Amino acid sequence: MLRRRTYGDADRILVVLTRDHGKISVLARGVRRAKAHNQAGLDLLARSQLMLIPGRNMATLAQARPMEVGSAPAELVRLACAGVLAELVDATVEEGRPEPRVYEILAEASARLASAAADPRLALALAAFALAVAGGYQPDLNSCMGCGEALGNDNGEFLPSLGGVVQGRCMGRVAALPCSAATLRVLRRMSVADEATVVRLRWTPTLRDELEAILIAHLEHHLDRPMRAARVLADVR
Ligand SMILES: [Zn+2]
Repeated sequence: MLRRRTYGDADRILVVLTRDHGKISVLARGVRRAKAHNQAGLDLLARSQLMLIPGRNMATLAQARPMEVGSAPAELVRLACAGVLAELVDATVEEGRPEPRVYEILAEASARLASAAADPRLALALAAFALAVAGGYQPDLNSCMGCGEALGNDNGEFLPSLGGVVQGRCMGRVAALPCSAATLRVLRRMSVADEATVVRLRWTPTLRDELEAILIAHLEHHLDRPMRAARVLADVR
């Protein structure tokens, strides 16, 4: 489930990402009443098997059967990360178009978010990078956005407006985010899909903050809208 809004007295409209039909809206009747029997499995990013009754404008939810048991992320940072991810995916995909790769990215991320052993902010960063790749706007990590020269392993800056990094004398000209040599290294590991190395890295608070700021700003620029949930995450942190 990506998003929900109230509808009438007791109903909700849920926006969900399905494996086969992409993003769809579903009418969930009665879920706002206490003890609604079909409430389980409708949490943010929860994966469920849905039984739907086709309708003229929108399908109606008949039943939702959770695919994972007790997987709802409880802790604040995990919830905030799930919120950012849901908002990113919601902004990335159009309704009614199958997006198997995005579904896969989201399923993997929600499993990581549900695992107490996994760092939720790393799960968010990996998913954000994968979404950029899936959308065809992977950040440029090879040449300087200012002069075109090959990037070294140095501290630099990330320019969301250009989707890449500047270093050395090209720094400090336009609004940019810090991109340390360590952050650039992680981004490069992500770009070659080396998640095994990435999850083994020692995460410093600076590295996490930089990476998260860069990836969210990069996606916000491409999706052309600010992520409300990213502000919530910043506050929770
Ligand atoms: Zn340069």
